[in-house]
Amino acid sequence: MVKNTTTLAFYGGVNEIGGNKILLQDRDTRVFFDFGMSFAMKKQFYSPPFLSPRSEKSLQELGILPQITGVYKFDQSPPEVDAVFISHGHLDHSAYLSFIKREIPVYCGETTQIILQALSEIRRSDLEFSVSDIEFKAFRTGKKIVVDSLEIEPFHVDHSVPGAYGFVIHTSNGTVVYTGDFRDHGAKPEMTRDFVENAKKAKPTAIITEATNMTGATVSSEAEVEGKLNNIVAGADGIVLAEFAYSDVDRLNSFYHIAKKNQRCLAVSLKQAYLLDALRKDKGLCIPALDDESMLIFRKSKKRFDKWERQLIERYDKQNKIFDVFEVSKQQCKVVLALSFYDFEELVPLQPAAGSCYVLSASEPFNEEMEIDYERLVNWLRHYGLPQYHVHVSGHIMPLQLKKALKEINAKRIFPVHTENADLFAKFVRNLKSQVTLVEKSKEYLL
Ligand SMILES: [Zn+2]
Ligand SMILES: [Zn+2]
Repeated sequence: MVKNTTTLAFYGGVNEIGGNKILLQDRDTRVFFDFGMSFAMKKQFYSPPFLSPRSEKSLQELGILPQITGVYKFDQSPPEVDAVFISHGHLDHSAYLSFIKREIPVYCGETTQIILQALSEIRRSDLEFSVSDIEFKAFRTGKKIVVDSLEIEPFHVDHSVPGAYGFVIHTSNGTVVYTGDFRDHGAKPEMTRDFVENAKKAKPTAIITEATNMTGATVSSEAEVEGKLNNIVAGADGIVLAEFAYSDVDRLNSFYHIAKKNQRCLAVSLKQAYLLDALRKDKGLCIPALDDESMLIFRKSKKRFDKWERQLIERYDKQNKIFDVFEVSKQQCKVVLALSFYDFEELVPLQPAAGSCYVLSASEPFNEEMEIDYERLVNWLRHYGLPQYHVHVSGHIMPLQLKKALKEINAKRIFPVHTENADLFAKFVRNLKSQVTLVEKSKEYLL
């Protein structure tokens, strides 16, 4: 007999930032919301590239990949999950799709699908990130998706990657809201507003919310970041080196606008160029075209290029858009170069001129896509006489704004995830009408 109950279980995102894997079971319908990689768990055991997991067995053995039957493609049992919904394309929410049985459909935003497929092409042969053969079902905001006894409505939210969504999930025992990762100080705060209003209208029984920024919160916005970047770029005599997450399209836009305003070009990496090229399919996104006169593609010095790199180089070489380090070196005061710390070997042939700067435009010490090795970074900067600026705004909502949104949505229960400070969060919101549940990993919660 089918039980008429609805439960939630959290297999990741508990006492950690990211790694979200939330199982919602309604009667006999089972749906996962996000299936991300846990950076925190992985870091406890591995140190890539020298010590990396060799197979899914190692990941399961160490508890990095949770023990759940009927979910993984390496497990012979029939599928026991009806669908996976991905909130956005950051790896801490999506990477472990790699292990999902290919007969389980994966729902995500159209933009997220483009991003995941582009990343999968770039990271070919990465055990922990491949979406090949996945049956994607793409949605846009406001669509209603029925999965057996569930009706799921995705609503766009603003985050540091395009195509991010929150969900309003109608179950047999009330409505559950899931925020995914969101903020209201980015380039499109109106999207988050839309989500909050729709969540409120649904009079939810429960909300699963991110609570990332409970310590070290700042008051800033993407617009303010752009102003600060202008200050730096306008004053620099030499090259401006910029480090930012390559899927952070808002930040890329900010750098592009400022480069253009200061008669410079923004030189992006092959990876960024590949993603921008793929995202052009999405007409709703505002992104610079690679053939724009203020854009260049930087080809770093290496001997062997992957197929996707060769194709990109071939296509844009014809338009004189591909620059190597020697060409960039000759016109340093005309370029803002997106350069990751891991490509700092390029500084040797580049020889940054006096008055050059390095701008770290990503979070510290945690970032959803990279981890910065501070000591070594500083040694390189010291060697070349490059001052370091830190100009950034978080992809995550700030505490007071989060509380305000939660008050407005007014769910009966709150389940905080994606945070190392759930207890702090619970105390901070204790005067709201909602009851906070501090979740334990893999425990089932009855709604
Ligand atoms: Zn996240
Ligand atoms: Zn995220």
